[in-house]
Amino acid sequence: MPSVMCEGVQVEFPFEPYPCQKDYMRKVIQCLQMSKNGVLESPTGTGKTLCLLCSTLAWRHTYIAQQELGKCLKGSNGGGDGAGAGAGAGAGAYKEQLMTDLKAASGWGEGSEEGLFIDRPKIIYASRTHSQLSQALDQLKDTIYRPKVCVLGSREQMCVHPEVVKVESNSAKVHMCRAKVNAKMCHFHNNLDNKKGEKAFSEGILDIEDLVKLGNAHKVCPYYMARELKTSADIIFMPYNYLLDPKSRRIHGIELQGNIIIFDEAHNVERMCEESASFDLTSFDLASCVEETDHLLKKTVEVTMLNERYHGEGMGGDDEFDAAGLATLKKLFLDLEEHISSFNIPNHSDGITKPGSFIFEFFSQVNINAETKNELMQLLEKMISHLTNSSTVFHNKAAGLQKFHDIITIVFSRDGPEGSSRTQLTASQMTKYYKVHIRTTEPTQKKTGKLDVWASSSSKPKKKGN
Ligand code: SF4
Repeated sequence: MPSVMCEGVQVEFPFEPYPCQKDYMRKVIQCLQMSKNGVLESPTGTGKTLCLLCSTLAWRHTYIAQQELGKCLKGSNGGGDGAGAGAGAGAGAYKEQLMTDLKAASGWGEGSEEGLFIDRPKIIYASRTHSQLSQALDQLKDTIYRPKVCVLGSREQMCVHPEVVKVESNSAKVHMCRAKVNAKMCHFHNNLDNKKGEKAFSEGILDIEDLVKLGNAHKVCPYYMARELKTSADIIFMPYNYLLDPKSRRIHGIELQGNIIIFDEAHNVERMCEESASFDLTSFDLASCVEETDHLLKKTVEVTMLNERYHGEGMGGDDEFDAAGLATLKKLFLDLEEHISSFNIPNHSDGITKPGSFIFEFFSQVNINAETKNELMQLLEKMISHLTNSSTVFHNKAAGLQKFHDIITIVFSRDGPEGSSRTQLTASQMTKYYKVHIRTTEPTQKKTGKLDVWASSSSKPKKKGN
């Protein structure tokens, strides 16, 4: 395969690159050498993905070689002098020259920020969809580079458990999976420790379909296998949302610091950020929350009464719910419903728009705030897990509660984890970047049979949140 020198880095390319491809790769390498962010544009069909992969992998090779040589030189300076000094001096001069060349090529020289990249930086390659990621993987197969690869996907795409795959919603799959894993009831997960060293998984470039096929063949969970592969991977492919959503990053253990981040088709990033920070809360959602909470409340009261009658004690066990707590939660949903109904929306208007900070006022009316939200989220998670995993024929499972949980997560997402440097948005930033829009929708028939006559509320940032 032809190789081309770009900014002192030897890049292996599957064919002789066109001038525009060389320019593109040169720019990628310059960004890496200077440890700078870059925004690169190139017309469709000019082989951007191939250029990105080849130039980044080539620079990474050079950078790692320079790191290794640096360690080696340090070691030999420490105790290598003595007999054979003549030959040693020649080798030493060669190494020094090599080090100078590698430093120049990797960019770790004068004026650069030493230590910005970790010793073996991972390349995180994010794209909007999985089909785009598959295409990138196909392009990687066309190159000479054979890095350790990992593709992250959701349980929706990767689960092979026959019972869990039949569940429709992704959130229900997540809860069922967690319950099975905790109870050691998924043998695909139980096999993970035995199978994770198998060459079939660690060699070659596998996309999601390959992992699922292998998972079925080896009776091991592809979803958790991908997470295992991530630890030693040189390049990790993932959809944008895994990277942009801090919660997702935490769940998947994705570390940005010191690594190389590539956003393919980055013009989609702004919309993705808007989507991940936006939500609609409709009357139907709150009605579902009331219905699901009520279902669990009735069940809790029934079981408590039965236990009291026959055993003289409460429900017991992990699934124990406090009827009073559930009743309070049901009232909270009803109050929110009433609160939305009380908005005065002029007839025939498109609704009213308020600054983003209004969403906090809205939730504080029912005592949901930064201090109380954790307790609320824990209760919601417990309820969702119970409803999802119970064998009840209750049709709604926990769709409403899950949505409400997601909304609270978005609203209070600026509360970073303890000790994090994330700061609260100021009121003026909140006003500038976020809006709450309240509007009346056409009356629709609720599942309860009542008419839905009041407004829906949505909080939508008009601009990217941060
Ligand atoms: S551990 Fe894997 S196979 Fe088992 S339920 Fe979860 S995602 Fe599915």
